Amino acid sequence: MKSEEFFIEAKKYLPGGVNSPVRAYKPYPFFAKHGKGSILFDVDGNDYIDYCLAYGPLVLGHANFKIINDIKKQLEQGTAFGVPTQKEMELAKLVIEKVPCAEMVRFVNSGTEATMSAIRLARASTGKKKIIKFEGSYHGAHDYVLVKSGSGAVGLPDSPGVPEDTTKNTVLIPFNDEETLLDLIKKEDDIAAIIVEPVMANIGCIAPKNGYLKFLRKITEENSIILIFDEVITGFRIAEGGAQEYYDVKPDLVTLGKILGGGFPMGALAGKKELMEMIAPSGSVYQAGTFNGNPISVTAGLSMLKQLNNNFYVQMDKKGDYLRTLIREILDDNNLNFKLAGLSSMFQIYFTQNEVYDYKDAKTADTDIFNRYFHELLKKGVFVPPSQFECCFISLMHGEEEMDRTAQIMEDHLKKLK
Ligand SMILES: *Cc1c(COP(=O)(O)O)cnc(C)c1O
Repeated sequence: MKSEEFFIEAKKYLPGGVNSPVRAYKPYPFFAKHGKGSILFDVDGNDYIDYCLAYGPLVLGHANFKIINDIKKQLEQGTAFGVPTQKEMELAKLVIEKVPCAEMVRFVNSGTEATMSAIRLARASTGKKKIIKFEGSYHGAHDYVLVKSGSGAVGLPDSPGVPEDTTKNTVLIPFNDEETLLDLIKKEDDIAAIIVEPVMANIGCIAPKNGYLKFLRKITEENSIILIFDEVITGFRIAEGGAQEYYDVKPDLVTLGKILGGGFPMGALAGKKELMEMIAPSGSVYQAGTFNGNPISVTAGLSMLKQLNNNFYVQMDKKGDYLRTLIREILDDNNLNFKLAGLSSMFQIYFTQNEVYDYKDAKTADTDIFNRYFHELLKKGVFVPPSQFECCFISLMHGEEEMDRTAQIMEDHLKKLK
């Protein structure tokens, strides 16, 4: 019962008892004690096969031995310097080696900071004001991108406190829809950038239609618009070079985070040299941070990225296929027409009969069914993110035994929905 008591107390000191809203589900979230491999342990003595994995960063599972060892050594050398280090340069080189569009890198502290800076840079380099974002895409918690709903026109803020003056420059369109974008581009000539999650992973998991990302590349090139891939989730997850390698489309700028920091807070902005050199101090586009390139985060990131080779991605794809095949069989065997989405080590079940290509389709999912599914899995020791509109992740430490057990638990519950 400790989690319940902690939560009651936490609510006195932290808004809603948590430090990020998705963590607060009803009646109370479990409080973590420690994690090991694919398993997360709570303070109440339970353990869970973890498909949330801190919302994406932990591709190698919890408490990766090598990362921990490398950090321990760095800790003894100091934790923040405010001057450059050799390791920042090494990590930048590694990112540039792996990520096709990356010619230079700026390290920041979160994905939010990365997209904020990428948008500023795109505006500065084009001299244009507006940005296009897709309905249901998430690019962090800052004002420019906190616009989700609305009907294709000028965006209304998603949160009180965000001035309409800010979001009026954020134009929303549906994902996977070429027509709407073509129409918009004809009418608008003040568009600095398109920012896109190449695989939408904050509204469940929506892959781009065949050729859609190439279409975005073509349209942006023809209209002098900066193409920003927000690969905070897909970066280092679906291929060494992220979605841009997976789908063979090179954006102008990429934002990275989550996996990049090896389990520590970090983000990055990378891309074409001529753009990146506009960032201060080599250029005049301001970006700064006390903890940018923090030696602990950088050490963890180096340790992480060095472990992610080609063979790693072959294994991750296999694991994803294995679990998705099991889930597909459960749905088929029980005549459940729910939609299974995902690729590589990402997946989600949409509790809808509709095909899911965009935000509007995803929103047809029955969240009551999802909530029952979530709680039933949790009770049986499987932790998926507590929202229909998050994406589930697999780590290298998820073996067939864990995935078989997961599928069994899913089936026990899902067959009751027939
Ligand atoms: C998580 C996420 C962000 C924000 O990253 P933070 O580190 O949480 O600020 C931005 N973009 C995408 C696609 C994300 O999934």
